Amino acid sequence: MKKILYLDLDWVLADFESWKKDLIEKGFDESYIFKNLEWFFRDLPPIPGAIEAFEELSEFFNIFILSTAPWWNDSAWSDKAIWVKKYLWEKARKKLILSHRKDLNIWDFLVDDRLANWSENFSWEHIHFGQVWFENWEKAKKYLLEKK
Ligand SMILES: [Mg+2]
Repeated sequence: MKKILYLDLDWVLADFESWKKDLIEKGFDESYIFKNLEWFFRDLPPIPGAIEAFEELSEFFNIFILSTAPWWNDSAWSDKAIWVKKYLWEKARKKLILSHRKDLNIWDFLVDDRLANWSENFSWEHIHFGQVWFENWEKAKKYLLEKK
C-alpha cells in the first residue's frame, strides 16, 4: 500500500513569495494581498520542479494537497481549487484539502514550508520545505523517493 504524502500548496507547490513581491513592488499592501485581494492565489506560478515532482511522486505515494486559505479572503478558497485544476488537473482530482487544522489529517509525510495551522503538532514526518535539507524540489523528491 502506498504511503500517504501531504503537500502544502503555498511555497511548496505554488510560488507565493515571488508573486507577492511583484505585487508589493506595484504598490499593493501585503496585508491587503493576503486578506482581500481576489484572484491572487489562482495566479501564483508553480515552484520550479513542483509539478514534475508531484507527477513522479504520485507513482509511489498516495498524495493529497493540504493547504490553508485565509479565512476572510473568500476568493482564496476557490482560487486554490482553480490553481490545482489548472496545473495538475486529473492527477489531483479530489485530492485538495483546505483546513486550518492540519494535525487532524493522518499522514506518513507532510511537505510544508511552515510550522503553522497545527502542522507542528504532528506525529509523522515533516519535510520542512525551503530549509537547508529540503531547499528545493530536487532535494525533497530525492529524499522522499528513498522513503517510498
Ligand atoms: Mg506554505
